[in-house]
Order: sequence, then structure tokens, then C-alpha cells
Amino acid sequence: MQIVKDAIELKKLRASLNGSVGFVPTMGALHEGHISLIKKARAENDFVIVSIFVNPTQFLEGEDLDKYPRKDEADIKICELAGVDIIFMPTIDSVYNEDELSITAPKIRGFILEGAKRPGHFDGVLQIVMKLFNITDATNAYFGKKDAQQLALITQMTKDYFLNVNIVPCEIVRDSRGIALSSRNTYLSEGEYERALSLSRSLKLASDMVAKSELDSSKIKVAMEDLLTKSVDKLDYVAIVDREFRELDKVEIGNSIILVAAFVGNTRLIDNIWV
Ligand code: AMP
Repeated sequence: MQIVKDAIELKKLRASLNGSVGFVPTMGALHEGHISLIKKARAENDFVIVSIFVNPTQFLEGEDLDKYPRKDEADIKICELAGVDIIFMPTIDSVYNEDELSITAPKIRGFILEGAKRPGHFDGVLQIVMKLFNITDATNAYFGKKDAQQLALITQMTKDYFLNVNIVPCEIVRDSRGIALSSRNTYLSEGEYERALSLSRSLKLASDMVAKSELDSSKIKVAMEDLLTKSVDKLDYVAIVDREFRELDKVEIGNSIILVAAFVGNTRLIDNIWV
């Protein structure tokens, strides 16, 4: 396994690879969610590149950029065990210049839900992902459904900009009690972890209602909100959208995503289910 810190060096190395490249972009502090993406990439490609980069442009003023968990040594071991060929751990200067041109998230899908609560976040995500796609020239790129809106916008970017990369959506990995794994879960105290279980419980409640043929979005959202407000400190949103992120009055089975975002303590958590 090689560790590359410079973008131009990685471009050269990539050009020497004969075969398909699976690419898994991450911000590190790797957990089983990331590992599931890496394993899928390993199974489906000749070479696997994982990037570990806490991208400053996707954090808003006052967010957790400075305290975001960094676990480089453990991450390198995890990648080695998972059969990764190349880890890309760029310095900021290696991927960013002064006074860059910018990519802006689409006006509608990019400015609802996460885009509304975190204005500018998706601009930063799309900017770094575009760079990483160009540096790695990946055949397939693996993204978790956990970040559903991010996945939708990146898929759209590949279409809008005629990129060659194929986007592979990956299932959400949860712990034994149902919480979606996230690097940010390490911020949670024991008590907060218990309260954070309400996110996945609210989604379970929603899917149970759908299973009993309750498709009315407002009824499902009220039930979820009732459950969530008892446990979380601030509910950012509960939403039911189709796979194109258009709001739905009625759940469309096979074409819907039910999403939740909330603060537990100072930690902002997101989760969703695809129904
Ligand atoms: P991050 O390091 O949080 O930026 O995540 C890197 C990639 O891993 C993104 O595509 C995420 O959607 C994905 N990911 C994060 N957590 C999970 C999870 N619990 N299950 C599946 N994929 C995940």
C-alpha cells in the first residue's frame, strides 16, 4: 500500500495503473461504514484508492473543523487490512489554490434540508469531490446513502459535467442498537448516545407506519417529531422526499427517502431510510 500526499504525484501514479480504479473519498476516523464502502470497492475494481482529507471548505464558520476526529495511524492500518492500494492524504496546499473558481450547488436541490441548514456546505463538498475525481480518474466512486443529499448532488454533478466516473450508492451501516455509524458519534457522551438512538427509532417508526399502509407524509412526520422532540436537543428537520429530493405529500414506495437531522448536545446527527 502506498501513501501519497501530493495531488500531482497521485495523478502520475494513477496514469501508470492498468485496470479499473475504485475510489472511496472519506474524512478519516474510519469506521465500519467506511470499511463497507472500501470492501465493495475492493470487490469490484482492480485497484482501490481511499482519500482521507478533512476538507475545510465544506465546514461552516463555527462548525467542528478544528475538533473533527483525526486518527491517521489507525486509518492507515484499517486501509492496509482492507486491501487498499493507495491512500491519498493530501495537504491543503496540494489541493487548493488562492482565488479559485468555484462550483455552486444547484439552486433547488442544493438549498433545501442540509443545504438550507448548512449554507455553502455542498459547494465545498462538490468542489473537493470534483478535484478528487479528476486527480484519481476513478472508474467507480463509492458513497454512503447515509449522506443521501450529498449522494444525489454528486450523482447530479457527474451528469451535469459529463464526468466519466460511475457513482455507486452504498447501504447505511448501523451499530447493534441501530445508530448509523458516523465519525461524529465519538463526540457523544453515554447519555447523549442513548438519546441519539431516537433518530433511528423515529425512522423505524416511519417505516412501520408505511408497512401498515400509512403513506400520508404529514402524519408520519408528526409521529416522528413527537418521538424525536422528547429526546433530541434541537430538531433541524424531518422530511420525506422522492429520490430526486422533491418533497412528497404521500410516500411513494420504492421512490422515497425519509430523513432526519437533529442536535444531541452539541453534536449534529443525520440519518435516513430509503423506502
Ligand atoms: P465521511 O468520512 O463522513 O465524509 O464519509 C465518507 C463516506 O462514507 C461518505 O460517502 C459517507 O456517506 C459514507 N458513510 C459514512 N457513514 C456511513 C455509514 N454509517 N454507512 C455507510 N456509509 C457511510
